[in-house]
Amino acid sequence: MKIVVVGTGYVGLVTGTCFASKGNDVVCVDTDHKKIQNLLKGVLPIYEPGLDALVSDSVAQGHLRFSTSLAQTLAEQTPDMVFIAVGTPPGEDGSADLKYVLGVAGEIGASLQGPTLVIDKSTVPVGTAAKVRAQVQAELDRRGSAITFDVVSNPEFLKEGAAIDDFMNPDRVVVGVESEHAGRLMTELYLPFVAGDTRKIYVMAPKDAEMTKYAANSMLAVRITFMNELAVLCDRLGVDIDQVRQGIGSDRRIGTHFLFAGCGFGGSCFPKDVKALIHMGGQVDVSLGLLDKVEARNETQKEYLLDKIDAHFGRDNIAGKTFAMWGLAFKPGTDDMREAPSLVIIRGLLERGANVVAHDPVALETAQAAMAMEGIDASRVRLVEQREEALEGADALVVVTEWSDYKAVTPAALASGLKSGLVFDGRNIFVPAAMKAHGLDYYGIGRGR
Ligand code: NAD
Repeated sequence: MKIVVVGTGYVGLVTGTCFASKGNDVVCVDTDHKKIQNLLKGVLPIYEPGLDALVSDSVAQGHLRFSTSLAQTLAEQTPDMVFIAVGTPPGEDGSADLKYVLGVAGEIGASLQGPTLVIDKSTVPVGTAAKVRAQVQAELDRRGSAITFDVVSNPEFLKEGAAIDDFMNPDRVVVGVESEHAGRLMTELYLPFVAGDTRKIYVMAPKDAEMTKYAANSMLAVRITFMNELAVLCDRLGVDIDQVRQGIGSDRRIGTHFLFAGCGFGGSCFPKDVKALIHMGGQVDVSLGLLDKVEARNETQKEYLLDKIDAHFGRDNIAGKTFAMWGLAFKPGTDDMREAPSLVIIRGLLERGANVVAHDPVALETAQAAMAMEGIDASRVRLVEQREEALEGADALVVVTEWSDYKAVTPAALASGLKSGLVFDGRNIFVPAAMKAHGLDYYGIGRGR
């Protein structure tokens, strides 16, 4: 099929590349000229395992192209489908800001030369498909054009860090359609991704699909938050949350995923999607009190390691100390720093007068940019390329992202690299008893202290 993907970020680039890898003819469009120029030179704008190879293969086979102009792309061909995969950041009131999505819808209407499917891949509130339809139609009317089109909601469930695998082997594909024709085309497109198993393709109404995405992310945020809250209680009662996690995760009704207590969730999705769902409720006078609590708990949780650091040293004794930080990205496998707990912890340490020496396997550049954007004075933050370098002379280690590189470090190696022997493990990557056996002073999240 001929496909245009508008927005070449984490979702758009993965979506376009995966479709191209199955032999579709894909053009990825982005208004960010630098991004497109780099992609044309084979330089990826994001870190995502396996993506470079897939992009270069698809480009080499002539299935994947890049452009900065949607108008020109639509003038040259009428695609079977145009995916909208631009950002939907939170507005001031927590609602999803639709200006990019509706902007693209307008551009599609202004340039479309023949019938197509206009597909919302971005995460958008219930009712957006209707707004996209109205926006495209308004532009077509302005041109006096009788071109017909379908609007489809096709939310994306990929996880950064495992995006290619998630897209290539999805648990399910959700498509919200207004017509049988659109349902048939979407099913045909996704068949190779579900190995021909149509039971994995859920065809529903656009509003149902839009809600499904928010429901999925909010449900996962609730699970994490429940464990985070329970972890605080475990700390007080001398219980190890990780034992509890295994004990409950083995119950098939509960399952093992998203049960890890930690120093809060971040990223471009959970925080903003929880906010947007609360806002959606508010607009129709439905209070989503559980999600209000999720939001509040997560903010508190990002400060939880700072509370432990305060309790250990005494808040007034932290000035002048140096903290090694392992992990900056909001989660492993990505360089994405959006809403990363590391930013809250760095800010808190700097406010207390401490210095930070931080390492991350891939997010040093994006962290630098994120600190500048958040107005964090980086003069007392040193970013280093080697994790061991961060430990040298540090008064404590703070683990913020659970990269497998860090998990592989033995307590013996940690004890010899970190002279202070003090560890605040925000992701519970180490085993408390093993740390203790090597003379390390260990604090986890919900590990009993
Ligand atoms: P992103 O910020 O990484 O990428 C968005 C891209 O859109 C940017 O490159 C931007 O330059 C481009 N853009 C903006 N306006 C444009 C226009 N008019 N024409 C062309 N390009 C334009 O965003 P993302 O993380 O890929 O997220 C996109 C959407 O997908 C959001 O709604 C998000 O909630 C949703 N989503 C994200 C993830 C994730 O893990 N990142 C997962 C599922 C769903």
